[in-house]
Amino acid sequence: MAERVLHVAGGHGGAFDVKAGDVFVLVDLEGQQAIDFVAFSAADQGETLSGIETRLALRSLYIKCGDVLMSSRGRPMLEIVEDTIGTHDYTVPACDASRFAVDFGCPGHRNCLDNMYEPLRAYGIRTPLALPEPFNFFQNSPVVEDGRTAVVDPPSRPGDRIALRALMDVVCAVSSCPQDIIPGNGLRPTPVEVRYPAEEA
Ligand SMILES: [Zn+2]
Repeated sequence: MAERVLHVAGGHGGAFDVKAGDVFVLVDLEGQQAIDFVAFSAADQGETLSGIETRLALRSLYIKCGDVLMSSRGRPMLEIVEDTIGTHDYTVPACDASRFAVDFGCPGHRNCLDNMYEPLRAYGIRTPLALPEPFNFFQNSPVVEDGRTAVVDPPSRPGDRIALRALMDVVCAVSSCPQDIIPGNGLRPTPVEVRYPAEEA
């Protein structure tokens, strides 16, 4: 099957859609880059990929190859079928405009929420409030002493990848996290790629 490539510049975002059964791959091209990710059912955008439902199903704060990620209606949505790194987060929200404006004094800074919302408008998403909490592939958010959490730079190297199989038709968005003020992306947002099957003409 022919392959399509969505190239996402460092600190930017993009959206794509795949059918049930398709496998798509997220690639950290230069290493140490968190990729925020959200997904919606193509048939009903009220059904989204859900971290809280996935945590309930997996009984784990970590995800690994073979795990099934659940929708907000408790249905299997995506399955991890390849993972070259094994370090991912699904507890931290997407960075957004207020985070940069209020916490860092940088109004107008690029952010993951807008990076994902803007390309999703072409799919009919009308408000950033519709976006679910993200899965942050390659983001390194360890649980540290006393159960506290942290965000540190990812261990990913150039070319590290995670592949997911869609278990229903889905619309997805990604963001190369533009955080360059505190650790999380090696202080340097870098490009990522999504490789996914092209639909037959
Ligand atoms: Zn971000």
